[in-house]
Amino acid sequence: MDSINPATGEVIETYDDHTADDVDSILDESAAVTSDWAETPITDRQQLLERAADVLRDNEDEYAELITHEMGKPISESRAEVEKCAWVCEYYAERAGEFLADRVIGSEPNARTFVSYEPLGAVLAVMPWNFPFWQVFRFAAPHLTAGNVGLLKHASNVPGCALAIEDVFREAGYPEGVFSTLLVDSEKMEDVIRDDRLDALTLTGSEGAGRTVAEQAGNELKKHVLELGGSDPFVVCEDADLDAAAETGVAARTINSGQSCIAAKRFIVVDAVYEDFLDQFVQEMEALEVGDPTDSDTEVGPQAREDLVEDLHEQVEASVDAGADLACGGGPMDREGWYYPPTVLAEPPMDSPAATEEVFGPVAAVFRAEDEADAIEMANDTHYGLGASIWTADLERGEGLAREIDAGCVFVNELVKSDPRVPFGGVKASGYGRELGKEGIHEFVNRKTVWVQ
Ligand code: NDP
Repeated sequence: MDSINPATGEVIETYDDHTADDVDSILDESAAVTSDWAETPITDRQQLLERAADVLRDNEDEYAELITHEMGKPISESRAEVEKCAWVCEYYAERAGEFLADRVIGSEPNARTFVSYEPLGAVLAVMPWNFPFWQVFRFAAPHLTAGNVGLLKHASNVPGCALAIEDVFREAGYPEGVFSTLLVDSEKMEDVIRDDRLDALTLTGSEGAGRTVAEQAGNELKKHVLELGGSDPFVVCEDADLDAAAETGVAARTINSGQSCIAAKRFIVVDAVYEDFLDQFVQEMEALEVGDPTDSDTEVGPQAREDLVEDLHEQVEASVDAGADLACGGGPMDREGWYYPPTVLAEPPMDSPAATEEVFGPVAAVFRAEDEADAIEMANDTHYGLGASIWTADLERGEGLAREIDAGCVFVNELVKSDPRVPFGGVKASGYGRELGKEGIHEFVNRKTVWVQ
């Protein structure tokens, strides 16, 4: 596996894939430690997680540089990502005991009834490159603390991050085998998914990868969770604070150089404020600092891989051919590395890629809605359902509109974010199951009913 710096196109390092024998011994090692780890007191597991937070903070600069070199994220965002990983560790170190305490039901007068939460065993995480630390810690912090062992199959373009994360847990003092990385190409994963030593899995990535992996996991009757991206609407009502909406909208579209499942992708603006919003939004998109991701002032770096820029540009070209107005940007930048400029497509037709597909890059589609009812209809006119953002000065109305949106989460006057304290996940083709919060830690436990008469 090659680590390639997206800012230059140069190979930074090459790693050997794990062979079939290596994978076999990693699975053996994790199976061997499963019951000991499940029986380890939760307070010990919580303490180890606190130490993982310390390791992350102690090595923040080193990990941030690794992230930026491997996938091109601006360095300030890489640092914030490592910090957020420490936060999720601290969050579950503090709260996991409470989330996993027996839930006493006790509705029968002569019986004691309760639910206990017991680990499932070995859980595989198939993870993407876009938040190469955060996506993994969002999985590992709750589920290792619940007493599961973790296996990571990371994206093939971030093997350095995959191995560094394994080291975080080792350095924090986790027993060998509790968290292991598999350096394996996706094509060779079916055998692992079907292996009896694996009990459950979660995948974050594209819809196509989700469908393939879900079919294999379903066939083996293994519990799984899918987080498959989206085409999140960002609805601007007539009474919205346009300055705040435009500023946050630009951040929501361009975070991680546009490569985020919960980035705002479809800006749906009511007719009365459409022109004003568009003008301001385009000005702010054009003003973004695009450049070397190792520079602290950079706001938009390169895209993570060459093929991703090609796919992105095809979506833009097809949307323009279909009738979208190109308000700014529009083609790969003429410089070393895989850069795509902040781009705005105004009023793309509803059957163009900008409206129907996930656009994974700094490309915003701005749609004109007749009124609020039309805006909500357009917001729901997608086969995705991950997140949504609504902008209005009337908070009661915002809450009402939030209930009308088909998505796993809706934020009013705020951008969509994944936060350790609240559940995160989607509906429709964005997947199923939840990560984070109390709901997240309950995904990979046996919610066992105990009835004592
Ligand atoms: P993929 O979905 O192909 O990759 C995500 C992860 O899934 C990687 O670890 C990949 O491994 C793995 N994977 C893919 N196919 C299989 C399989 N059959 N069995 C097991 N593991 C598999 O995404 P890409 O990186 O190719 O990005 C393509 C598009 O996907 C993006 O443009 C974006 O639209 C979407 N995406 C969404 C993300 C999200 O946060 N929801 C994150 C990343 C991408 P490997 O790298 O070895 O192929």
